Amino acid sequence: MSLPDQFSETLSETAKRAANHLGGIGERRVAPTTDTIGGLKALAGPLPDSGVSPDEILALLDNVAAPATIASTAGRYFGFVVGGTVPGALVASWLNSTWDQCCGLNVMSPAGAQLESVALELVIEVLGLPSGCGGGVVTGCTMANFSAITAARYALLERAGWDVVSKGLYGAPEIKVVVSAEVHASVLKALSLVGFGRDRVHRVPVDGQGRMRSDALPPLDKMTLVCIQAGNVNTGSFDPASEICREARQAGAWVHVDGAFGLWAHVSPSYQHLTHGFEQADSWATDGHKWPNVGYDCGIVLVREPKHLWAAMNVSAAYFPDDKGREPFQYTPELSRRARGVELWAALRSLGREGLVDLIERTCRYARRMADDLQSVGYEILNEVVINQVLVSFGSPEKTKAVISRIQEESICWCGGTEWQGKAAMRISIPSWATDERDIEISLDAIKRAAKAVCG
Ligand SMILES: *Cc1c(COP(=O)(O)O)cnc(C)c1O
Repeated sequence: MSLPDQFSETLSETAKRAANHLGGIGERRVAPTTDTIGGLKALAGPLPDSGVSPDEILALLDNVAAPATIASTAGRYFGFVVGGTVPGALVASWLNSTWDQCCGLNVMSPAGAQLESVALELVIEVLGLPSGCGGGVVTGCTMANFSAITAARYALLERAGWDVVSKGLYGAPEIKVVVSAEVHASVLKALSLVGFGRDRVHRVPVDGQGRMRSDALPPLDKMTLVCIQAGNVNTGSFDPASEICREARQAGAWVHVDGAFGLWAHVSPSYQHLTHGFEQADSWATDGHKWPNVGYDCGIVLVREPKHLWAAMNVSAAYFPDDKGREPFQYTPELSRRARGVELWAALRSLGREGLVDLIERTCRYARRMADDLQSVGYEILNEVVINQVLVSFGSPEKTKAVISRIQEESICWCGGTEWQGKAAMRISIPSWATDERDIEISLDAIKRAAKAVCG
C-alpha cells in the first residue's frame, strides 16, 4: 500500500493552509466565538462506514476546527503560561511528524534518540545545571515533576536499604515531603501519583510574593524530599534556593525544583541572579513548551545523578537490545513516544543564545510595561514583577472578574483570572516569542477600555 499519487499535492495544500492560518492569526479574535465552537459538531458522530481522503480531512480540519482554536501562537494570548512555537520548532515538528519516529530506543530511531541527547545537553548548559546530570524528554512539567519525584523516591529509600522498585511502598520507611504553601498543583498531583499523597505533606509558609520562607523550614533529614520552585505560576517569584539547598545538603535531604518556566531566566545576564542556587538541587523539572516556545508538548526532567532516574524508570524484556549508551525509554515513564527531542533541539538551535536571551528579556520588559501602564492609570499590581508574570486587581473581586470577562469576550487579547493571597486578580503571563510592542499597545488599550467600562 502506498500513498496516493497526488499526495505531494496534498502536502503542498497543507502547507498553504497552514501558512494562511499563521498569516491571519495576529488579526483574528484570540478566542473563538461560541458559534465557531458550536461548529465543531460537524466533526462529531459515529464512525462512518466509508472513510474519506486526506484532502477531505484537511478541508474539514482547516474549515471547521482551525477557527475554533485559540490563537496562542500569535502575540496576544496571556492566559495561563502558554508559549507559542518558534518557526524553527514548527518546521521541525512537521518533519518529525512525517518521520513518525518511535523514540524509545536508539535502534528504533537513531535520529530521535541522538537529537534528544543533544537537546538535553543544550538544556543543561542553558539552565546552568551541573554537567553530568541527565534525564528525559516528557510531555510537560507535570510529568517531569512526576519523573523526578519517582527518582527521588527511589534514591531516598535506597539509602534506607529499601528497594522501592521491587517492593513498592507497603511497609517502606516513611519519606517526609516538604513543599511550600504556594506549591504548584502539578507537584501535588505528582506526589499523589507516586504514592506520597497530596495532603500528607509539610507546607512551609511563604512571604508576600509566594517565596518559601527558609527560616520556617521543618527539621530536614536524609529521608526528606523538599520541593521548591523557580517561578511561581502567579507572581513569577523564586524560592530562596541557596539557603534551602544548603540546609538540605547538610541534612542529606533531596531537593527537587519545579522550574516550569522560571528556570529559563538563567540564560539572561539581567535575570540570572533569580536562579542562583537552584543548580545545587538534586532534580529539576521544566517545560519546553512555555518560555522556550518549543511548541506543544515538551517537558524536561533532569536529575543530578541520572542513575537514580534510570533505576526508577528502566524496563527490560527479552526483545529489547542491550543498552547502547543512553536509551531514551530508560529515563521516562513512557516506552513508545514521539521523538520530542527533535523540536526541543530545533527550538534551541534556531534561537541560539542571543535569541533565547532576547526572548526572555523582551517578554519580561513587556510584563513590566503592562504593570507600569496599568498602575499609572490607577489599577493595583499585586506582585513584584520580577519576570514575565503580572497580577492586576481592578478593585473588588466582582469588578476584577467583570473586567476579565469583558476582555475575554472582546478577545483582542486574552487574560485569565486567579486568586493571589485572598485577592481576586487578573493574571497576565507573557511567555510567547510572538508578542511584540504593537501587541502590548493593542492589549493595553483593550484592557484599559474594559476596565473603564466596568470601573468607570
Ligand atoms: C505550567 C506549570 C506546571 C505544569 O506544567 P505542564 O507543562 O502544564 O504539565 C508546573 N509548575 C509550574 C510552576 C508551572 O507553571
